[in-house]
Amino acid sequence: MIDINLYDGVEVDPVALVGRDQQGREILERCEPGDPNIYCWSVYLHLKEGGVECISDHANEAAAGFIAHALRVAYPTLRPTIEPGWSRWACPACGSHDVQVSLPAWHRESCSLELQYLETDAEASVMWWYCNDCDESGTGEPTEIKP
Ligand SMILES: [Zn+2]
Repeated sequence: MIDINLYDGVEVDPVALVGRDQQGREILERCEPGDPNIYCWSVYLHLKEGGVECISDHANEAAAGFIAHALRVAYPTLRPTIEPGWSRWACPACGSHDVQVSLPAWHRESCSLELQYLETDAEASVMWWYCNDCDESGTGEPTEIKP
């Protein structure tokens, strides 16, 4: 049984097959999403004391992302911490960093006419932004200030 209180985050990373040991067992390492040797996609929990632990391996990114999403819904302490006022996004009208953005997401309608979230597109780009301070909104990217 996993003690969820030991963790403060969850992420999905691709894993590459980098070789085999003397017993022929696979040697796997986390890699970048564009790596040509991606072997599987794994779900990692962040330990509060530092480091990560792999808790499951999946054949594709969507399956791993589904598990990570379900964990964030079930355990809110695994959600990324949002620091109020800190964001690379700045409203072009008032300069506030309290800006929300929308991303395209795929849904399917159920027989009870509810939209069921499926996944956010891997190539998701910002469709719409909204400033919580001045109510300004628009499409595209607001001024992006690098930290
Ligand atoms: Zn604004």
